[in-house]
Amino acid sequence: MPLVPHRHCIVCGKAIEADKYYCSEECEQKMEKERKRQRNFTLFMFLMLLIILLMFWLPLLR
Ligand SMILES: [Zn+2]
Repeated sequence: MPLVPHRHCIVCGKAIEADKYYCSEECEQKMEKERKRQRNFTLFMFLMLLIILLMFWLPLLR
């Protein structure tokens, strides 16, 4: 069984060339959008955690 070096598109799973991550421009843009969404979500969660911690800490400081 010949093993040709290849990857799979990380968005849709299609087999692609080994030096590529996406099968198409469309999949690349989809991934970029997802990455941005996830970064925003992480930032949001971090801020919420910070606010919650402050809510617990501030009464103790008084
Ligand atoms: Zn794809």
